[in-house]
Amino acid sequence: MDGPIYLDSNATTPLAPEVFEAMRPFLENHHGNPSSLHSHGRMARAAIDDARDSLAATLKVRPAEIIFTSGGTESDNLGILGLARHHQSRGRHLVTTSIEHHAVLHAFEWLEKREGFLVTYLPVDGAGRVSVETFAAALRPDTVLASVMCANNETGVLQPVPELAAVARSRGVLFHTDAVQGMGKIPVKPHEWGVDALSLSAHKFYGPKGAGALFLKFGLALDPILYGGYHEGERRPGTENVAAITGLAAAARRIEPLLADQERQRELTELLWAGLSGLEGIRRNGDPVGRTGNTLNVSFDGLDGEELIMSLDLEGVSVSSGSACMVGSVQASHVLLAMGVPERAARATIRFSTSLATTREEIERAAEVTRNIVSRLRKHSPTGMKAC
Ligand code: PLP
Repeated sequence: MDGPIYLDSNATTPLAPEVFEAMRPFLENHHGNPSSLHSHGRMARAAIDDARDSLAATLKVRPAEIIFTSGGTESDNLGILGLARHHQSRGRHLVTTSIEHHAVLHAFEWLEKREGFLVTYLPVDGAGRVSVETFAAALRPDTVLASVMCANNETGVLQPVPELAAVARSRGVLFHTDAVQGMGKIPVKPHEWGVDALSLSAHKFYGPKGAGALFLKFGLALDPILYGGYHEGERRPGTENVAAITGLAAAARRIEPLLADQERQRELTELLWAGLSGLEGIRRNGDPVGRTGNTLNVSFDGLDGEELIMSLDLEGVSVSSGSACMVGSVQASHVLLAMGVPERAARATIRFSTSLATTREEIERAAEVTRNIVSRLRKHSPTGMKAC
């Protein structure tokens, strides 16, 4: 085992060597602007056309249904703000869940607080799941758009997207899903799922950072959120990042080996949980079965999440908290709070997320290091419980 153990793949994954090779010509030699008419420009345009065809083939959608963006955040913003604004004459009620990524939640909050839309935030059960019945009951005659994520970034819990999309369709409601954490972990199938819009981000599946895509069903219009040009079918202006787009498509082409590795990673996260379960005062958060295989979310009673992360880092294990880290404090995760996890436990939570490169030895070592750190931190706390 060389170097620190990386168990933070839901935050980001390394660039795959073949993805880097696909990008290299556009970083080294081919600098043309895809909008230019000369040969340099035409070469760049051809690369974007090829990337669009390739990603469309991977997702089994039409090339015209792909809008390249700067990442998951922009895809979520464009899908939600763009659809809600464009179709608001049909109604101004929106539905989402309380466990979405902030790229979704903050877009809804903007529409609610600044543009007068009404938003229903659906609850989840203790396992982090949205119920199809609750979703159906929340839809109203004036509901125009719903957005429910496919896999949660903190817990890995999967939502019943095809069932939810079918309900939305039957009620004439547009449906967007944030599939940023799904891609590479479960087969992502926009048409089979019946969604109108779906967000992706390349750096979550071994592609470059700052590259994403929004699938938008053929014929569906949205308002752009940026202004200044006619790129991406007049839906997303700005000179295209040719290397990043080429990398996104190349990363998507190697999705099958990622999917094939999920069962192995599920075994690794179960092994990690088994390695920790000798510790007292721990709880596993989220549905242990209906989840992405690579994600394990654990709360450690009486400890402080930030201290735990720093201690693990010092021992060469890189993980994240299930919470938002602000300077000097760890905020309790909105996802865990929505699941009914007590605030104290929510602030004492670690998210372990494995990758294609994670080995059994690394998992055994990470379990041992975590056990030792938790025992040590608890011993040093006078009551055995540290105030958060
Ligand atoms: N949605 C989910 C579920 C995510 O996990 C993330 C990133 O953590 C995003 C959206 C934002 O993606 P990006 O980092 O590409 O902006």
